[in-house]
Amino acid sequence: MGDYDISRFTTVGIVGVPPLAVIRALNEAKVIIHDLDARLVTASIDGVSPLLPKVYCAILRTVVLNALHLKLDAIFIDVGPGKCDCALHVSTILKEILSIPVIRTRNVDVAGCGTPISKARQDLTEKLLAITEGVKYATVTPCQFKSCKPKAGFWGVPPRDFSLLEPFPVTTHIYGWTRCMENKTPADEVLEAYCNPKVPTVFFAQSFCAKTALAKFLADRHPQALYLDVDFTTSSSAKAKVQAFLELSGALS
Ligand code: SF4
Repeated sequence: MGDYDISRFTTVGIVGVPPLAVIRALNEAKVIIHDLDARLVTASIDGVSPLLPKVYCAILRTVVLNALHLKLDAIFIDVGPGKCDCALHVSTILKEILSIPVIRTRNVDVAGCGTPISKARQDLTEKLLAITEGVKYATVTPCQFKSCKPKAGFWGVPPRDFSLLEPFPVTTHIYGWTRCMENKTPADEVLEAYCNPKVPTVFFAQSFCAKTALAKFLADRHPQALYLDVDFTTSSSAKAKVQAFLELSGALS
């Protein structure tokens, strides 16, 4: 598994979804894992401006901010088809500015672990938190939520700002890369492109992400769709758009 010794690490950061074999080895060595894609520090994002353009994916700007402020022994960053070229270039920068190992992975796992959380009746924020937490573990915790018929759909990656998720009903099914995350197959293009034409769906992508193309393409072909890209924080107008779309499509009734 590469030329590094996991047993020497106490705390590591992960970016994207590294292969299951890596997560399993980290779990077995009882290494603490921080998901660097998530908001973990309160420091100003301006701190990354000397390193990354302002017009860049907010998730990866957050990754760099976390990496600058957390005490880590190594970073495992997925740069394969399950993540993106933007992450590849960020790994180059992290290698240059950090004194810890920055280990690139390419996750092409194909064995699906199931997607019960994506199809459950529960607050959408809680479901996304459960899915993103699951990335740190090689084993799957049985889903605590009951399944439901979808009245709305959220397609996309976990947003940098989870307040975008607030207007959605508990009967929202999750599609796109977030569903792939739960399935532990982040490079599964077919699963990522899957959506249900009978379910009013918000197709979301982070601004400046290549996935905006797929989100827009799928939204254009879907009979009840809202395409939305959001940068660092969710504006009140973006939230109002989602609210109006869900109301008009009957998803909230
Ligand atoms: S949101 Fe897009 S650009 Fe940002 S890390 Fe994810 S795949 Fe890469």
